[in-house]
Amino acid sequence: MNLFVANWKMNMLRGQARAFAEELGSQIGDRVGESELVVAPPFTLLDAARDARGRWSIAGQNLSEHAAGAFTGEVSAAMLADAGCRYVIVGHSERRTLFGEDGAVLSRKLARAREAGLVPIYCLGETAAERAQGRTEATLAAQVETLADDPAAEPLVVAYEPVWAIGTGLAATPHDAALAAIRLRELISARRDLRILYGGSVNPDNAADLLREGRVDGFLIGGASLKAATFAAIARAGSA
Ligand code: PEP
Repeated sequence: MNLFVANWKMNMLRGQARAFAEELGSQIGDRVGESELVVAPPFTLLDAARDARGRWSIAGQNLSEHAAGAFTGEVSAAMLADAGCRYVIVGHSERRTLFGEDGAVLSRKLARAREAGLVPIYCLGETAAERAQGRTEATLAAQVETLADDPAAEPLVVAYEPVWAIGTGLAATPHDAALAAIRLRELISARRDLRILYGGSVNPDNAADLLREGRVDGFLIGGASLKAATFAAIARAGSA
């Protein structure tokens, strides 16, 4: 089943989150089972973004590399699971570049997520410079190394998010997405339950082509996920 994940980043307040949930609920109605929807709000909005009817699940956007203790300001995997999360985003490019999260940190975060029973949505993708230098494949291979200790029997979601496509309005072509998805499936071949998402300037107009020709199992959506109707339209386009 295709998976559509809304990454709100550091946006929305409680009233907006509740209005989003109400609108998404009316957009979906009783049409469940065609695709899987996930909303990843800021921590303070996990409750407000939840659906009482369970038509979508909620995810953390980040988690601590530590299990518990004196780490002021951090949120643990167990806390996310306790708040009702099924998934957690790990290694978003904004965490890698703005907060300096490297492979060592991210492999500890993956381990914490597994201990709490969360399914990681592990993000990777090349920068514009790496792409220009023909280093896309090498970058993906290096970022996949971080998954080396992650248990192969567990479900895993990998989001291919070329950094140059995130928030720029310049989505990858379906061909580019397909090349990356095919390579990632080769690199992560031991997995029974692997879904590969594409992320980077997905919108209702490019969703159908990206999903049909991009060889992916859904999308991680930033800007276009802030409006429930747009998020629902992408999921519909991607499920058609
Ligand atoms: C993202 O931040 O994961 C993302 C894909 O953002 P956008 O859809 O805005 O490019």
